[in-house]
Amino acid sequence: MMRKILLFIVVMIATFSCKSVRNENVSNNQITEKKYQAKAPPTQSFGQEAFEGSNETIIRWLGMAGFMINSHGTTLMIDPVLKDFDMPLLIEFPIETKAVPHLDAILITHSDNDHYSIPTCIDLKSVTQEYHSTKYVDSLMKNQNLSSFGHNIGDTFFIKKIKVTLTPADHTWQNDYPESKNGRQWKKEDCAGFWIETPNGTIWATGDSRLMPEHLQMPTPDAILFDFSDSEWHFTFEGAVKLANAYPNTPLLLHHWGSVDAPDFAPFNGDPENLKAKVNNPERVVILAPGEPYKLSRIKN
Ligand SMILES: [Zn+2]
Repeated sequence: MMRKILLFIVVMIATFSCKSVRNENVSNNQITEKKYQAKAPPTQSFGQEAFEGSNETIIRWLGMAGFMINSHGTTLMIDPVLKDFDMPLLIEFPIETKAVPHLDAILITHSDNDHYSIPTCIDLKSVTQEYHSTKYVDSLMKNQNLSSFGHNIGDTFFIKKIKVTLTPADHTWQNDYPESKNGRQWKKEDCAGFWIETPNGTIWATGDSRLMPEHLQMPTPDAILFDFSDSEWHFTFEGAVKLANAYPNTPLLLHHWGSVDAPDFAPFNGDPENLKAKVNNPERVVILAPGEPYKLSRIKN
């Protein structure tokens, strides 16, 4: 009897071990089957200290396509998305809207919700001096009672001593998707980039765009806030390499990658390592964690 019980126990243990090994194999396969997506480094949260004055110009990636710039105490955000995005995320946001003490301006490149986040802009309304964008996005911001200004491509305006000029962009993807057209013919000038001149150098925020001939003929910037993906509505990978190599010494602060959990969606699944493998002077590809400070300095040509 005892021997029978022992045999029974041995058989049961063997059965369960096989089962658990099989289960492990199944789950391992599931893990390896999920397509790899490059992910931003862990967020470095920041607070009030990031808004104080200094003699420097500090750039912080906010995750997604967002950046904050503090230049000698003048503070602005470009395309901040700090809450309520409608897709799953891979990142934590580095600051909550309620922790932002003051912004001299928010600049919005275009109306897509990964750039113009209405919930973020409304939350920041009481601490933001003014909002700037294209004429079209301005019309949307006015609907939200934001203190906004609309500009044409090539227009210049000042945020205190910082000079900002709108650069051209080509991102009229809606015209190819009737369900996204919203009853209008989308125009190139609905979207823009920003050329930002600070005492410590020039920053070019390209905005989302297909590669345009104009993009290859700019003066040399000291940092590019670089829309990076392999999407036909963006620069594409080949276009990104071309743009990067047009300014071979300029640091490239990549965005639009590593933030949204979308391994099969080209606009969000770029891998910076691929760009590093292809561009001239790959050490200038800057992989920031959301919230990590980057100090701007003039490059030597
Ligand atoms: Zn975008």
